[in-house]
Amino acid sequence: MSEEKNLFENGFEEYPFWWVFLQNIFLLIYFGTGFAGIWKLQIYRIPFVSITYIIFIVIMLLFVLRKHLCTNCYYYGKRCNTGWGKIALIFRKNSGNYKTGTALAGLTWMLVTLIPVTGFIIILFSNFSIFTLVLFVLFVLLTPVNFIIHKKACETCKMRFICPASMAKTI
Ligand code: SF4
Repeated sequence: MSEEKNLFENGFEEYPFWWVFLQNIFLLIYFGTGFAGIWKLQIYRIPFVSITYIIFIVIMLLFVLRKHLCTNCYYYGKRCNTGWGKIALIFRKNSGNYKTGTALAGLTWMLVTLIPVTGFIIILFSNFSIFTLVLFVLFVLLTPVNFIIHKKACETCKMRFICPASMAKTI
């Protein structure tokens, strides 16, 4: 990488297994809460919003963003904080468009948050249940936790000063 000299020297060469494991477990709980919470939004008894939500997450987080972000990243093929840098090996190095990836990353994370929140509100007004309310509160509480974990990851990342999506560039 041409920007090798700007890498954060104290960043993890590769993240510890426990970090990758816990971060993925957290994300499964986070997305799972959103998925379960909007299950009641159904047409012909098919929970199409929940299904669309998960398909969107899989396509964007495991494929599209890996192509456009990770193929240009120091952690391409390595164990980054999510471990998804290894998934990027299915794409050629530098084959993605970093600018596109950065824009899509912002949009993706906005939608994975906004879709459940909107769904929760619709359900709470049209078909209230304590169960949905509990999931809604949980999802809302986990959202800043997700933000904090992401920021912590950026602070310990080799790319923190050069990654356009870094949440720790100025710290
Ligand atoms: S700086 Fe943050 S967003 Fe960029 S590669 Fe590192 S952890 Fe990912």
